Amino acid sequence: GRLVSAISKSFRMSQDLHILFFPFLAPGHSIPMVDMAKLFSSRGVKSTILTTTANAPLIQPTVDRANQSGHRHPITTSVIRFPAAAAGLPDGCENATHVTTEEAKLKFLQAVAMLRQPFEQALRRHNPDAVITDFFLPWSVDVTLELGLPCLVFQGTSLFALCAYQSIKRHKPLESLPSDAESFVVPGLPHRIEMLRSQQRGSSEAPSVLEFHRQVGEAVQKSDGVMVNSFQELEPEYAEHYRNVDGKKAWHVGPVSLCNKDVLEKFERGDETSIDFNKCMDWLDAKARGSVIYVCFGSISQFSTAQLREIAIGLEAADKPFVWVVREVGGDGAEWLPEGYEERVVGAGKGLIIRGWAPQTLILDHPAVGGFLTHCGWNSCLEGVSAGVPMATWPLFAEQFFNEKLIVEVLGIGIGVGVKEYAAREHEQKRKVVMAEAIAKTVARLMGGGEEAEGMRRRARELGEMAANAVEIGGSSYVHMGDLIEELIDRRNAEGL
Ligand code: UDP
Repeated sequence: GRLVSAISKSFRMSQDLHILFFPFLAPGHSIPMVDMAKLFSSRGVKSTILTTTANAPLIQPTVDRANQSGHRHPITTSVIRFPAAAAGLPDGCENATHVTTEEAKLKFLQAVAMLRQPFEQALRRHNPDAVITDFFLPWSVDVTLELGLPCLVFQGTSLFALCAYQSIKRHKPLESLPSDAESFVVPGLPHRIEMLRSQQRGSSEAPSVLEFHRQVGEAVQKSDGVMVNSFQELEPEYAEHYRNVDGKKAWHVGPVSLCNKDVLEKFERGDETSIDFNKCMDWLDAKARGSVIYVCFGSISQFSTAQLREIAIGLEAADKPFVWVVREVGGDGAEWLPEGYEERVVGAGKGLIIRGWAPQTLILDHPAVGGFLTHCGWNSCLEGVSAGVPMATWPLFAEQFFNEKLIVEVLGIGIGVGVKEYAAREHEQKRKVVMAEAIAKTVARLMGGGEEAEGMRRRARELGEMAANAVEIGGSSYVHMGDLIEELIDRRNAEGL
């Protein structure tokens, strides 16, 4: 029996599994999915990443470097054309980072939906054994299932946020909320989570965007299971809650960013950086251990010049060394940088401003960094956890307000800046400005001494160790990924008989 089982196992191994990955065209989606493809590839799986022409160069350096490590199958990228013109978008507008107005957002989603047919053709051409698609591409689930292939959906967020969304969808707490009530408790969660009405998606979103989110929910239900970038030890109650209440099989295989071990892998991740590698490392190397606060609000958020100015003043007043990533806002900063700031703060080495794309995990993992001011995008939260640093939380939109609750109240590794209102990105100019004083206070509290900050630092460090263990051989995420590979091979073989 044992011999037969060993032979059958090696037989199955030799019939290599082929998975096609299809990320939504935004850094917060494609970055973790490319990491995921790397992880599968390191386990002997043949991985194909499907993307569009203008997005391919963002992925290729990472894929090329991964392929140098000589895994059994090189990762391949497969490119389809993006119908920008057909949707009335300028040529090359193929990524959510290029979409800043409500009108453009709707056109972008239209263009993405037109990828249905090229996606189907690509599936027929590549003939994979399974597809891991993105929850933001709901129609891709239908196409995959119609072709009889197993379809897993990558849910870009925390299990906590997924549970909170499910609860709100099911119990509709806002509908029965007295009109004068400002807050409500998210029903049925393992912890008592109280949120403000104004922190929920809704009033500010276009009906077609709300309809899109409904389709996303439906597609996830139809799929064969969800891929989650998280790990069992981080949110165990929510892994269980999701399983019990939602009934969908969730494979948590993260933190996927930890597949990037080498400094150059981290440096090249996501996009071409706007800072020289040596300049960045030299600046950080010169700072004391745990003294620097890293400030970044993800890949697509943009602030008004009034808000940028308050951040600049707040960071200076907090009096801790900082690295601050500012998305392109046009101009040279003259409108929002306070008088003399370049010399007084930047020139004096107290602050490093990166305009454009920063090598985030490289910075977070540097020993000089001791805190992270984040917009609570899930990738950033998990990268903060993996780096073992506490966070100051400044949620803006999407599920970021839920992630803030997880970080601050459930995990106890963060302090909120105090944002009360949800505002979609295209409404950023209407967003209430967070004043410099609040920013300075939060950063000083996070980076300071005392029991509160020490406690957060200790817990963050412990979670960082757990994160590393989860993806090591035998760790929870490692095992989960192995189980999934086995299941997909079994399914493929059963169908091949
Ligand atoms: N990121 C980066 N450099 C930047 C901005 C973002 O490397 O200058 C990466 C970050 O490490 C994370 C992703 O982009 O992996 C952003 O995803 P997240 O979920 O945090 O936020 P989103 O951009 O989707 O709002």
